[in-house]
Amino acid sequence: MNKKDTIIYEAHGNLYLNITNRCTADCIFCLKRYSDGVYGYNLRLMKEPTLAEVIKQLSEHELSKYNEVVFTGFGEPLVRLDDVLKITKWLTSRGIHVRLDTSGHAKLLYPDRNVAGEIADSGMKVVSLSLNAQDADTYNHLCDPKYIRAYQKMLEFAKDISKSGMELRFTVVNLPVVDIEKCKEIAAKYRADFKVRGYSGSD
Ligand code: SF4
Repeated sequence: MNKKDTIIYEAHGNLYLNITNRCTADCIFCLKRYSDGVYGYNLRLMKEPTLAEVIKQLSEHELSKYNEVVFTGFGEPLVRLDDVLKITKWLTSRGIHVRLDTSGHAKLLYPDRNVAGEIADSGMKVVSLSLNAQDADTYNHLCDPKYIRAYQKMLEFAKDISKSGMELRFTVVNLPVVDIEKCKEIAAKYRADFKVRGYSGSD
């Protein structure tokens, strides 16, 4: 496995950004519990990269050869909302397709901001939300979110995403306790794409 502090890594024809290890949840299926990274990259950060460091590393890649650049990694990107906005603007001004993978706790992290609107304005195309469960109780059991009413607020954020004109995707992990069919129905109700993630860290 490569050395620690991987900020940028490649897989599936995409470029992935790992800008933080902080998170708003503590999911029982989180890869951080079982591994140091994915695809041979060590995603443990000794320290978070600065905005300038992320831009510098992005500049060293031929970005046009990737399908998309994705905020993901071993943490919740939106704990660094202002940097996510700046990095996304930098990328989209160069014609790069950008996706955000998020726990969806933005309305709890930033109750006084229109996060969906700000992300849309930065040029973000797709937001992939970790739906993770068919109801709040299962969600709380699986994800141990740092906030109360996290499931409801995540669904409210999903509505904001759609209203802001971005493409919405819901994902779940294929676990026995997750009712995939019910989750699929929720996705249909929100007119979201739906994806079942393997229990392996693949996107
Ligand atoms: S939201 Fe993602 S990074 Fe955070 S604990 Fe859950 S699986 Fe891990």
